[in-house]
Amino acid sequence: MKCYQEAYEASWAHDELHRYRNYRQAFSGGLFAGMLDFGIQMVTKGRGLVARRPGHSDHETMEPESRSTTSSPAYNDSDSMDKLSDVYLSGTIHEEDQPAHLLVNDPSICVDRCTEEYGNPCKHFCPAAVYEWPKGSEAVVINASNCVHCKTCDIKDPNQNINWTTPEGGGGPNYPNM
Ligand code: SF4
Repeated sequence: MKCYQEAYEASWAHDELHRYRNYRQAFSGGLFAGMLDFGIQMVTKGRGLVARRPGHSDHETMEPESRSTTSSPAYNDSDSMDKLSDVYLSGTIHEEDQPAHLLVNDPSICVDRCTEEYGNPCKHFCPAAVYEWPKGSEAVVINASNCVHCKTCDIKDPNQNINWTTPEGGGGPNYPNM
């Protein structure tokens, strides 16, 4: 794949993206510092106040409930559509008997560690209500056929216990109205 890397680095796509290499990192310090830094990036071809800054994995920003200063957001079904109506409008279809494409490495982590430390954030961050914790249930119910393939669970799960894998047979969202 070395020739692919060289061809990419010689292309307009690399030039264009290189100018925004520090964009997200600039705003990690807050809106106003980010606006100042991004303004400087505009005239320094993306360098900004300091040279290339490291990024971090998104799940590292998740805080245990005991340290969190905000309460879990309540999904507001009255001002918008509920999640399952959104899934319906996305035209999502999977064969019901296909192999699971959402793999949980260790289900006991969901029940013990994740419940205790993080309050099972999968039920909030999944936009398709795939992860359900019915009252009284001792395990998570995974409605994999609703998955709209955003991959948020794989990226955001604080224990990195969920693997999104490519589903069989090209199933998934269709977005017929886009
Ligand atoms: Fe939900 Fe997105 Fe994960 Fe599918 S990929 S289960 S829609 S968070």
